Amino acid sequence: MTVGPRPAARALPIAEPFRIRRAALRLIRADARAFAAVIALNALAAGAGLVGPWLLGRIIDEVGAGGGVAVVDRLALAILAFALAQLLLVRCAGYVGHRFGERTLARIREEFTDRALALPTAVVERAGTGDLLTRGTTDVAAVGTTLRDAGPEVLIAAVQALFILGAVFALDPLLGACGVLGLLGIWFAARWYLRRALTAYLAEGAANSALAEQLAATAAGARTVEALGLQQLRIAACQEAIERCRGTRARTLFLRSVLFPAVDISYVIPVAGVLLVGGVLHGHGTVGLGAVVASALYLRQLSQPLDTILQRLEQLQSSSASFARVEGLALAPQAPPFASPVPADDRIDVAGVRYAYDAGSDVLHGVDLTILPGERLVIVGPSGAGKTTLGRLLAGMDAPHTGSVTVGQVPVAGLDPDQLRRHVVLVTQEHHVFLGTVRDNLRIASADATDAELRTALAAVGADRADELPDGLDTDLGHGAHRPDGARAQQLALARVVLADPHTLILDEATALLDPRTARHTERALAAVLEGRTVVAVAHRLQTAHDADRVAVMEDGRITELGTHDDLVAAGGAYAALWRSWHGERPPAI
Ligand code: ADP
Repeated sequence: MTVGPRPAARALPIAEPFRIRRAALRLIRADARAFAAVIALNALAAGAGLVGPWLLGRIIDEVGAGGGVAVVDRLALAILAFALAQLLLVRCAGYVGHRFGERTLARIREEFTDRALALPTAVVERAGTGDLLTRGTTDVAAVGTTLRDAGPEVLIAAVQALFILGAVFALDPLLGACGVLGLLGIWFAARWYLRRALTAYLAEGAANSALAEQLAATAAGARTVEALGLQQLRIAACQEAIERCRGTRARTLFLRSVLFPAVDISYVIPVAGVLLVGGVLHGHGTVGLGAVVASALYLRQLSQPLDTILQRLEQLQSSSASFARVEGLALAPQAPPFASPVPADDRIDVAGVRYAYDAGSDVLHGVDLTILPGERLVIVGPSGAGKTTLGRLLAGMDAPHTGSVTVGQVPVAGLDPDQLRRHVVLVTQEHHVFLGTVRDNLRIASADATDAELRTALAAVGADRADELPDGLDTDLGHGAHRPDGARAQQLALARVVLADPHTLILDEATALLDPRTARHTERALAAVLEGRTVVAVAHRLQTAHDADRVAVMEDGRITELGTHDDLVAAGGAYAALWRSWHGERPPAI
């Protein structure tokens, strides 16, 4: 087995900025009404918030002009009423905004799941499951938090900031210009930050994925690591990944540590500017005291929405990097177009097949093989000979770079997944039990199978024992529920195969995990079900070879012997030697 990311692991793509913008617009359009409501409510709330300082300015002017207590009381009451209205509107806007965010997040999750499931197996294998996992969990969660909190907050803050600046300009354009000039510092600081942030956050995301990949691979291959004494190597690899993670985080932390202090200082400048210029203008009698006070209050108020925007800017940046990674899935190589030709018959032909994993050298060096419908073919040979690789090609999980693997004269790897499943299915030692009931687990293979068909399939693989399935098909499997062990998981996988009903099965040591008794039981049950189907088995037990129609011996990426068990034993080649040593017989004296 391979421990650690494969040498030529090819990362999944990342969406470019214009695609992110297009995806964001698509999501907004999908829930346009709610989005419009969020904007409208926020605008109303911001409008209500502007009235307070303006009324305060009026109070100052009234008092200056010798106005009575009654006028001041009325104005003060109005301030209170508008403050309450603003509070209510903000709450309403928040509620609508959060609901919009949750619905959009659900859409993103659904889209992500659809895209991930549509990825060809070979693409997922090359990219490594760690990357897909990080995108589906950390990245989608980051986008979700932004949509739920940061997105609506930034929207509210942006509307508020625009309204506040508009109000200062309405009071006095000169004071407004003064305020805007004072804000230039923030603009420069934000620009400096934004230019660097996306790259820095993308690097952080990639480092996180690499670390997840290293840890997942080490955990999955723990036994191999222990058996081969690779602990130090794995620890070093993980430490290197952690160090890269730390480096990228330090970079983003540095960017933040420059942005925030710069911004804090910049807040004071517009207020001080307006007070200074306003004081001079008031001295010349061109501006009323009320307008100066109201402008200073507005600009003071401005720090709150700007603070929100800047604080959330970081989150927006990191989540737009996450969004780029989530959306990038749409750019991954897709499965072949769905109108693939229909195979003419069930015959499988392998002709002149050469295959290499990514950029590596060939591991299959010209394999020719014809598998006739209904035949039992067993492939034997030393470890690393290419048996599993040939099995993967026969099952259409990847295409050879030279030569062809066809079923009914159609390339197997070109069939769409639904069609492929009806023709060829690969059963390996990796079995997944999905969270859900036994019924859910089985219906993956055949969505409209009836309960009776599901039970028949379970019985066929000997997995229908009542003590194993306390609630029958409704037995919950997975975390905290009934947890099937490896052997049971394998039986479930075999039951799924029975339901998929392909004419050809590729068994890659499919029964190796089962204890001998269960294995015999499953094999017997399977044998009855597989009657009349083509079976290609990568076998370790030579007994399987003995019972097969033909045996293919693979050595070093080539088929070196092919024939019936008796023929091969009689030929006295590699297979005969294997057979004799398996039987504990001494080779005949020469
Ligand atoms: P077998 O099943 O006979 O043990 P395999 O088909 O697993 O042989 O392997 C054939 C060769 O391909 C070996 O040299 C192995 O190291 C290499 N190989 C197998 N899987 C991969 C992979 N995912 N990436 C790169 N090389 C691989």
